Amino acid sequence: MDVMNSFSRISAALLLKGSGKTLFLLSSIVLLVYSGCATRPGTIAHRAGDEIIVAGQMIHTGTRVVTWMDPGGFDAYRTERRFAKFEESDFATSKEKIKDLASPSRFNLRKAGLSPEEIERVRGGGWDLPLLQRVVDQFVLHFDVCGTSRQCFNILHDHRGLSVHFMLDADGTIYQTLDLKERAYHATSSNTRSVGIEIANIGAYSSKEADPFDKWYKTEPNGQVTLTFPGQFVGSNRFYTPNFIGHPARPEPVVSTVQGHEMRQYDYTPQQYEALVKLTATLCEVFPKMKCDYPRDAEGKLVTRKLAEDDLNKYQGILGHYHIQTNKTDPGPALQWDYLIQNARRILEPASSVRAATLQVENRFPKKLADGK
Ligand SMILES: [Zn+2]
Repeated sequence: MDVMNSFSRISAALLLKGSGKTLFLLSSIVLLVYSGCATRPGTIAHRAGDEIIVAGQMIHTGTRVVTWMDPGGFDAYRTERRFAKFEESDFATSKEKIKDLASPSRFNLRKAGLSPEEIERVRGGGWDLPLLQRVVDQFVLHFDVCGTSRQCFNILHDHRGLSVHFMLDADGTIYQTLDLKERAYHATSSNTRSVGIEIANIGAYSSKEADPFDKWYKTEPNGQVTLTFPGQFVGSNRFYTPNFIGHPARPEPVVSTVQGHEMRQYDYTPQQYEALVKLTATLCEVFPKMKCDYPRDAEGKLVTRKLAEDDLNKYQGILGHYHIQTNKTDPGPALQWDYLIQNARRILEPASSVRAATLQVENRFPKKLADGK
């Protein structure tokens, strides 16, 4: 109150003089008084640690997310190999050593469906959320056949020149490696319209194939199955959760048909399901075209093979890599689609308290800038 009173007196005095110079002074004082109420420059902006980055916006998920900018994160924007010897990690050397590393960028532009003017606007990365919401309508689930997100990033980034927006580790930690505005290389024809996630799991095997389950899963005397992360991944079995010990959600390998073949696979961990449910709900909320559902046949049952080309083109929602390509079986027979979709939908119900708590958009910019003022 005192401040405002003296402010009024100064204003009145200055206004009486009325020159251009005093008006400038007056506006400076106004600025000073009001910036006194705003955040002090140099203050660190609050992060809850559950934010994903979508066209520069930070969006809460309600589950732990480590982005490419965070300590312990995996950065798919970098051109060098993440795990090579430092002296050999630069792109020029990497390109010589690894034949699949054709380009320093492991991603490119989502340009399908954009006008030449829009391409010109976003070619440097300058996407806004409404434009991205027009383009993105699929969420593609993969298993990584690596077992850990660290090893997954090693294979994708250092060896294959590929990328994916999210990796979901066995402990339920989600790593985001790129802003969702980027066209990541994970699902061929769906790259341009989709967000992808690699879920840590050693994969699914047909009756003709040998599986590595005896190395990855150990049945305890009490019948519980524990993930063992075997020795060939030394250095890769470090989790964000200290001393993490993982168990598949079901103790026996799950046997079911994918692409017409009987496959077997150990289930994902409960921590992975919990995180995936929240991320799925978040993406369905952020991208209005993405329906919170999986591909269904005429009876409403899960389609377990590649979708016909027309159906795939029309499909907007959650799907597996095997719905896109005949040579893929991920996310395998173990994924509990009904559990995932029903629980994600529950979060999205208007009355859900989880929804109110987790799905608000946090703007990185001061309100005035965000409003375009
Ligand atoms: Zn895949």
